[in-house]
Amino acid sequence: MIIVMKQDATQAEIDGVTKRVKEAGLRTSIVTGAERTIVGIIGGAVSPDLGSSLERLSGVMQVLRVSRPYKLASREFHPEDTVVKIGDSFIGGDNPVMVMAGPCSVETEKQIVEVAKAVKAAGAKVLRGGAFKPRTSPYSFRGLKVDGLKLLAKAREETGLPIITEVLDTRDVEVVHKYSDILQVGARNMQNFNLLDEVGKQNKPVMLKRGLSATIEEWLLAAEYVLAQGNHNVILCERGIRTFETYTRNTLDLSAIPVVRKVSHLPVVSDPSHGTGKWYLVPAMAAASVAAGAHGLIIEVHPNPDQAKSDGAQSLTPENFALLMEQVRAISKVQGLSRRPLTAAKA
Ligand code: PEP
Ligand code: MN
Repeated sequence: MIIVMKQDATQAEIDGVTKRVKEAGLRTSIVTGAERTIVGIIGGAVSPDLGSSLERLSGVMQVLRVSRPYKLASREFHPEDTVVKIGDSFIGGDNPVMVMAGPCSVETEKQIVEVAKAVKAAGAKVLRGGAFKPRTSPYSFRGLKVDGLKLLAKAREETGLPIITEVLDTRDVEVVHKYSDILQVGARNMQNFNLLDEVGKQNKPVMLKRGLSATIEEWLLAAEYVLAQGNHNVILCERGIRTFETYTRNTLDLSAIPVVRKVSHLPVVSDPSHGTGKWYLVPAMAAASVAAGAHGLIIEVHPNPDQAKSDGAQSLTPENFALLMEQVRAISKVQGLSRRPLTAAKA
């Protein structure tokens, strides 16, 4: 159960709620958001009597029953879809599928500007590009760091495309925030709780990738960290999980997309590039993701995939990306049909 306080609730009124909950043998977890305070009840079942007595306390706006461990990320807490504004476009709800595209890593000015122009011409709304790169081996290319951010800013200047780029460490949040429009938290950092807290304090959207071995619940609890700090512009990203299968780099969990849409209000993006690891599998899984209800896609594109400093094997050429976009547009047209709500069988 969560208690949503009125916007002008005083500390004494919040304390009054905590006291009443403690008297019932339960504990509270208080989330002080930018707009209002939310008091979550933890530690056991809440009786209907306690619920209605809390509803009558001064300063309380609403008492909501939330059965999930994540509260702010749950659809129970926020029945409407969250829509996030990125540049002049919107992602989430019934907005058109937002495609983010660009190279795995920013390499040179020529490379990033060329890709930015190509993906924009094909219909992408956001430019991706890693400047701080998480690499399995410390000997692999780890990105151009701040110089890479500056090149991304240059590409934004040339094309007008907003930028998404990864922030790897709490120490880099300030500089990445300065240059980017969306802060990406990578799969390997999904449970870096200090980083989640830090991006939660920023005033730019955060895209949170699913961890390599994270359950959907763990992923949504990670999103809860960001939301709990007052940043409500969180976008989830399914990028494949580790399974026994080795033919593909990861197993893109397509079912996670409708699951997340059911249990949460946050927009969900699919990353078929990391999800498959093979460029020729990317268009099919992009189309499947859109059919499954993804609000957006993030796709790796490189002018010369063979020479890419990272993830060339899963990168599309600009020409193939344009073909993917045609396919995505075609699927988007019929996708509305899959959103008709089903009715559960009566028990
Ligand atoms: C990336 O987007 O380049 C990346 C490193 O992704 P992930 O965190 O999903 O591996
Ligand atoms: Mn990559």
